[in-house]
Amino acid sequence: MELRLYDTLTKEKRPFQPLDAKNVRMYVCGPTVYDFAHIGNARPVIVFDVLFRLLRHLYGEAHVKYVRNVTDVDDKINDRAARDFPGLPLNEAIRKVTEQTGKQFHADVDALGALRPSVEPRATEHIGEMREIIEMLVAGGFAYVAEDHVLFSPQAMNAANSTLPRYGALSKRSLDEMIAGARVDVAPYKRDATDFVLWKPSKPGEPSWPSPAGIKAEGRPGWHVECSAMAWKHLGKHFDIHGGGIDLVFPHHENEVAQTCCAFHQSRMANYWMHNGFLQVESEKMSKSLGNFVTIHELLADWPGEVLRLNMLKTHYRSPIDWTMKSLEESAKTLDDWYRVAADVEHGKPAASVVEPLLDDLNTSLAIAALHGLRNSDVSALAGSLRLLGFLSESAAQWEGRKQQASGVDAKEVERLISERTAARARKDFKESDRIRDLLAAMGVAIKDSKEGTTWEFSR
Ligand code: AMP
Ligand code: ZN
Repeated sequence: MELRLYDTLTKEKRPFQPLDAKNVRMYVCGPTVYDFAHIGNARPVIVFDVLFRLLRHLYGEAHVKYVRNVTDVDDKINDRAARDFPGLPLNEAIRKVTEQTGKQFHADVDALGALRPSVEPRATEHIGEMREIIEMLVAGGFAYVAEDHVLFSPQAMNAANSTLPRYGALSKRSLDEMIAGARVDVAPYKRDATDFVLWKPSKPGEPSWPSPAGIKAEGRPGWHVECSAMAWKHLGKHFDIHGGGIDLVFPHHENEVAQTCCAFHQSRMANYWMHNGFLQVESEKMSKSLGNFVTIHELLADWPGEVLRLNMLKTHYRSPIDWTMKSLEESAKTLDDWYRVAADVEHGKPAASVVEPLLDDLNTSLAIAALHGLRNSDVSALAGSLRLLGFLSESAAQWEGRKQQASGVDAKEVERLISERTAARARKDFKESDRIRDLLAAMGVAIKDSKEGTTWEFSR
């Protein structure tokens, strides 16, 4: 059976034919690093990790390139930096925020059993490519300079008589309707309400780079052009798969297609556009104001990462997912059982009953149903199939031991011990502070002291 993938652009499942089977290329929009990632952010990470593993299984590990970017230029990062490190120069504070949250993101997604992508480019390291794309767009008549901004004109794109795609084709929106429905308070420097920012001036103290298109003042890129630049640099002008959450279809991906296709005068950016559905918590939209906002980090304090992974994959990636405690408990029970019977057996090849649903547009819910079947018929195929899906990274004994350890360590207790240690250090009782540090280490907790105070994390 061949791999078939659903393409958001053509709204159909099509056989997957890579442009080059020796170099299968996938780009997925990664996080904006300003805070802990929430469990909704874990969905594209896990879904596209399964696709990455499946592609490696089909084409060979050396023949798949997976790029997931890190957005490290963003207003939210600047705000966070100013708030958390008011004493530091803004650029230094920003570096602290992106370093910390980047590290945390890696710790979280490693724990979810996600392989690291082949490349994780950072926006700030690709400003040159962004400028090049912007210059090409201005030269081609698709973008213009106004008040130190560079703006992309979707209307110029759709007026061009060429092989370009239509603006709006990916998100199934008509440009005329967008124009008609545009808000009235459009920024004065825009010629048309639908124009979007490729480059903008930086405020004093904000990160800034030399501007393209003859603009004297320094500035910074818009979000959309970051991905066009990083995808181009690492995967070329035209590649196989572009993914992300469904919320990114418009405007982010529509604008990526527009920039890339107009800059390079081509009809496609990616051959398959894949989007995961949204995750909600206990039947409600997750939001800070509703108080149901859960970070991956918090969940990992209560559940092994593989439980979160299984819980995510029980639902097909394009369907919405309702994240519930009940479902998590069931996922934990299932994994306990699978670890007991399959973690220590010699693993065979993944079963056809598991691989075939995966080939059908990544139908992980059917694949998991097949795993339940293998549990009673072929434990070695169960083990091989679980590994293909990114499970069984530990032995049965490690799994059991970690469970006991996890249930024995509670965050409140850790915080209490840390404040005791801080008090001991303040009165220069270093014997006591060392004793508490060792105690925490024995609990699997590593601590780090800095000017800002003491932070901690599980060290395994
Ligand atoms: P962001 O950092 O908000 O740009 O999100 C990073 C990735 O997570 C993007 O691919 C989003 O589409 C995805 N994402 C954000 N929230 C959710 C959610 N509640 N459910 C599923 N995916 C999400
Ligand atoms: Zn992107």
